[in-house]
Amino acid sequence: MQYVDSEQAKAAEAWNRYLRMEESRIGNIFMGQLKSTLRCTHCHHDSVTFDPFWDLSLPIPSRTGNLKLQQCLQHFTREEELDGDEKPTCSKCGVRRKCLKWFTVQKFPQVLVLHLKRFSPTERFRGKLNVVVEFPLSGLDMGPYAAARGQEAVYDLYAVSNHSGEWRRALRPSFLFQIATSAFTDAVTASRAESLTCSSAYKTRSLNLT
Ligand SMILES: [Zn+2]
Repeated sequence: MQYVDSEQAKAAEAWNRYLRMEESRIGNIFMGQLKSTLRCTHCHHDSVTFDPFWDLSLPIPSRTGNLKLQQCLQHFTREEELDGDEKPTCSKCGVRRKCLKWFTVQKFPQVLVLHLKRFSPTERFRGKLNVVVEFPLSGLDMGPYAAARGQEAVYDLYAVSNHSGEWRRALRPSFLFQIATSAFTDAVTASRAESLTCSSAYKTRSLNLT
Protein backbone atom coordinates (compact mmCIF):
# COMPACT_ATOMS: atom_id res chain seq x y z
CA MET A 1 0.00 0.00 0.00
CA GLN A 2 2.83 2.31 0.93
CA TYR A 3 4.44 1.39 -2.36
CA VAL A 4 1.34 2.40 -4.32
CA ASP A 5 1.08 5.65 -2.34
CA SER A 6 4.68 6.53 -3.14
CA GLU A 7 4.01 5.94 -6.84
CA GLN A 8 0.93 8.17 -6.64
CA ALA A 9 3.02 10.85 -4.97
CA LYS A 10 5.68 10.55 -7.64
CA ALA A 11 3.03 10.84 -10.38
CA ALA A 12 1.49 13.90 -8.72
CA GLU A 13 4.87 15.52 -8.27
CA ALA A 14 5.75 14.97 -11.96
CA TRP A 15 2.37 16.36 -12.99
CA ASN A 16 2.67 19.45 -10.80
CA ARG A 17 6.20 20.06 -12.04
CA TYR A 18 4.91 19.99 -15.59
CA LEU A 19 2.00 22.32 -14.78
CA ARG A 20 4.34 24.86 -13.20
CA MET A 21 6.24 25.06 -16.49
CA GLU A 22 3.59 24.55 -19.12
CA GLU A 23 0.06 24.97 -17.84
CA SER A 24 -2.32 26.20 -20.54
CA ARG A 25 -5.97 25.90 -21.40
CA ILE A 26 -5.10 23.64 -24.30
CA GLY A 27 -2.98 21.48 -22.04
CA ASN A 28 -5.83 21.21 -19.54
CA ILE A 29 -7.92 19.60 -22.27
CA PHE A 30 -5.45 17.49 -24.19
CA MET A 31 -2.70 16.62 -21.73
CA GLY A 32 -2.48 13.22 -20.12
CA GLN A 33 0.20 11.40 -18.16
CA LEU A 34 1.89 8.20 -19.22
CA LYS A 35 3.46 5.77 -16.78
CA SER A 36 6.43 3.73 -17.89
CA THR A 37 7.36 0.71 -15.75
CA LEU A 38 10.67 -1.08 -15.95
CA ARG A 39 10.75 -4.36 -14.01
CA CYS A 40 13.99 -6.18 -13.28
CA THR A 41 13.57 -9.91 -13.98
CA HIS A 42 16.22 -10.72 -11.36
CA CYS A 43 15.06 -8.79 -8.26
CA HIS A 44 11.57 -7.79 -9.53
CA HIS A 45 12.16 -4.17 -8.58
CA ASP A 46 9.94 -1.73 -10.48
CA SER A 47 11.37 1.55 -11.66
CA VAL A 48 8.62 3.92 -12.78
CA THR A 49 8.68 7.21 -14.64
CA PHE A 50 5.83 9.57 -15.48
CA ASP A 51 5.71 11.73 -18.57
CA PRO A 52 3.09 14.07 -19.93
CA PHE A 53 1.64 13.30 -23.36
CA TRP A 54 -0.39 15.21 -25.92
CA ASP A 55 -1.26 12.14 -27.91
CA LEU A 56 -0.53 8.44 -27.93
CA SER A 57 1.34 7.19 -30.93
CA LEU A 58 0.10 3.68 -31.59
CA PRO A 59 2.00 1.04 -33.53
CA ILE A 60 0.10 -1.02 -36.06
CA PRO A 61 0.82 -4.67 -35.18
CA SER A 62 0.17 -6.03 -38.66
CA ARG A 63 1.01 -4.93 -42.18
CA THR A 64 -2.09 -6.37 -43.79
CA GLY A 65 -5.68 -7.30 -42.98
CA ASN A 66 -8.30 -5.90 -40.64
CA LEU A 67 -7.47 -4.63 -37.20
CA LYS A 68 -9.36 -3.05 -34.37
CA LEU A 69 -8.06 0.15 -32.82
CA GLN A 70 -8.03 -1.70 -29.49
CA GLN A 71 -5.44 -4.13 -30.92
CA CYS A 72 -3.17 -1.16 -31.59
CA LEU A 73 -3.72 -0.02 -27.99
CA GLN A 74 -2.92 -3.52 -26.69
CA HIS A 75 0.25 -3.54 -28.76
CA PHE A 76 1.24 -0.14 -27.40
CA THR A 77 0.80 -1.27 -23.78
CA ARG A 78 2.25 -4.77 -24.17
CA GLU A 79 5.20 -5.98 -22.12
CA GLU A 80 8.42 -5.64 -23.99
CA GLU A 81 11.55 -7.57 -23.03
CA LEU A 82 14.79 -5.61 -22.95
CA ASP A 83 17.70 -7.99 -23.22
CA GLY A 84 21.13 -8.23 -24.84
CA ASP A 85 22.46 -4.80 -25.84
CA GLU A 86 19.21 -3.20 -24.66
CA LYS A 87 19.57 -4.41 -21.05
CA PRO A 88 19.04 -1.46 -18.69
CA THR A 89 20.81 -1.01 -15.38
CA CYS A 90 18.56 -2.04 -12.51
CA SER A 91 18.67 0.68 -9.85
CA LYS A 92 18.42 -1.95 -7.09
CA CYS A 93 20.86 -4.59 -8.40
CA GLY A 94 23.24 -1.90 -9.64
CA VAL A 95 24.08 -3.91 -12.75
CA ARG A 96 22.54 -4.42 -16.16
CA ARG A 97 19.68 -6.89 -16.06
CA LYS A 98 17.12 -8.27 -18.41
CA CYS A 99 14.01 -6.14 -17.79
CA LEU A 100 10.39 -5.95 -18.83
CA LYS A 101 9.01 -2.60 -19.88
CA TRP A 102 5.46 -1.48 -20.45
CA PHE A 103 3.29 1.63 -20.62
CA THR A 104 0.03 2.42 -18.88
CA VAL A 105 -2.00 5.62 -18.67
CA GLN A 106 -1.70 7.28 -15.28
CA LYS A 107 -3.93 10.24 -16.03
CA PHE A 108 -6.43 10.44 -18.84
CA PRO A 109 -7.02 13.72 -20.67
CA GLN A 110 -10.43 15.19 -21.33
CA VAL A 111 -9.78 14.81 -25.05
CA LEU A 112 -7.63 11.88 -26.04
CA VAL A 113 -5.73 12.05 -29.32
CA LEU A 114 -4.60 8.73 -30.75
CA HIS A 115 -2.55 8.57 -33.86
CA LEU A 116 -1.42 5.59 -35.84
CA LYS A 117 2.22 5.07 -36.61
CA ARG A 118 2.20 3.81 -40.12
CA PHE A 119 5.87 3.07 -40.09
CA SER A 120 8.30 1.94 -37.47
CA PRO A 121 11.35 4.15 -37.02
CA THR A 122 13.58 1.23 -37.96
CA GLU A 123 11.96 0.77 -41.33
CA ARG A 124 14.26 2.60 -43.61
CA PHE A 125 12.55 1.46 -46.74
CA ARG A 126 8.91 1.62 -45.96
CA GLY A 127 6.90 -1.20 -47.34
CA LYS A 128 3.39 -0.68 -48.51
CA LEU A 129 0.80 -1.01 -45.83
CA ASN A 130 -2.54 -2.58 -46.55
CA VAL A 131 -4.47 -2.42 -43.31
CA VAL A 132 -8.00 -1.51 -42.39
CA VAL A 133 -8.27 -0.18 -38.84
CA GLU A 134 -11.73 -0.31 -37.31
CA PHE A 135 -12.58 2.18 -34.60
CA PRO A 136 -15.65 2.66 -32.39
CA LEU A 137 -17.81 5.76 -32.68
CA SER A 138 -18.59 5.65 -29.00
CA GLY A 139 -17.73 3.74 -25.87
CA LEU A 140 -13.99 3.31 -26.36
CA ASP A 141 -13.04 1.79 -23.02
CA MET A 142 -9.54 2.85 -22.04
CA GLY A 143 -9.86 1.24 -18.59
CA PRO A 144 -7.71 -1.81 -19.54
CA TYR A 145 -4.80 0.51 -20.33
CA ALA A 146 -5.00 2.49 -17.08
CA ALA A 147 -2.22 2.34 -14.50
CA ALA A 148 -4.76 1.91 -11.69
CA ARG A 149 -7.05 -1.10 -11.79
CA GLY A 150 -10.72 -0.24 -11.94
CA GLN A 151 -10.13 3.27 -13.26
CA GLU A 152 -12.92 4.22 -15.65
CA ALA A 153 -12.15 6.10 -18.84
CA VAL A 154 -14.70 5.76 -21.61
CA TYR A 155 -14.44 7.94 -24.69
CA ASP A 156 -16.67 8.84 -27.60
CA LEU A 157 -15.29 9.72 -30.98
CA TYR A 158 -15.19 13.40 -31.79
CA ALA A 159 -13.19 13.58 -34.99
CA VAL A 160 -10.95 11.66 -37.36
CA SER A 161 -8.13 13.17 -39.32
CA ASN A 162 -6.80 11.14 -42.19
CA HIS A 163 -4.37 12.32 -44.82
CA SER A 164 -4.55 11.15 -48.35
CA GLY A 165 -2.13 11.62 -51.16
CA GLU A 166 1.51 10.91 -51.56
CA TRP A 167 2.45 8.23 -49.02
CA ARG A 168 5.59 9.85 -47.65
CA ARG A 169 3.53 12.75 -46.38
CA ALA A 170 0.59 10.70 -45.22
CA LEU A 171 2.06 9.99 -41.83
CA ARG A 172 -0.36 10.55 -39.03
CA PRO A 173 -3.94 9.36 -39.26
CA SER A 174 -5.39 10.63 -35.99
CA PHE A 175 -8.45 10.15 -33.83
CA LEU A 176 -9.84 12.59 -31.30
CA PHE A 177 -11.88 10.97 -28.56
CA GLN A 178 -13.56 13.00 -25.89
CA ILE A 179 -14.41 11.59 -22.53
CA ALA A 180 -17.95 10.23 -22.61
CA THR A 181 -20.40 12.27 -20.57
CA SER A 182 -24.13 12.15 -20.13
CA ALA A 183 -24.35 15.30 -22.25
CA PHE A 184 -22.94 13.40 -25.18
CA THR A 185 -26.21 11.84 -26.19
CA ASP A 186 -26.96 9.14 -28.69
CA ALA A 187 -28.42 11.77 -30.97
CA VAL A 188 -25.16 13.68 -31.06
CA THR A 189 -23.26 10.47 -31.64
CA ALA A 190 -25.53 9.62 -34.52
CA SER A 191 -25.20 13.01 -36.17
CA ARG A 192 -21.42 12.92 -35.84
CA ALA A 193 -21.44 9.44 -37.29
CA GLU A 194 -23.29 10.74 -40.32
CA SER A 195 -20.78 13.49 -40.81
CA LEU A 196 -17.93 11.02 -40.74
CA THR A 197 -18.89 9.29 -43.92
CA CYS A 198 -21.37 7.01 -43.54
CA SER A 199 -23.47 4.79 -45.63
CA SER A 200 -24.55 2.22 -43.11
CA ALA A 201 -25.75 1.88 -39.57
CA TYR A 202 -22.73 0.07 -38.22
CA LYS A 203 -21.44 1.23 -34.88
CA THR A 204 -17.86 0.98 -36.00
CA ARG A 205 -16.09 2.72 -38.81
CA SER A 206 -12.80 1.90 -40.37
CA LEU A 207 -9.86 3.66 -41.84
CA ASN A 208 -8.15 2.14 -44.83
CA LEU A 209 -4.42 2.65 -44.56
CA THR A 210 -2.99 1.93 -47.96
ZN1 LIG B 1 17.27 -5.81 -10.11
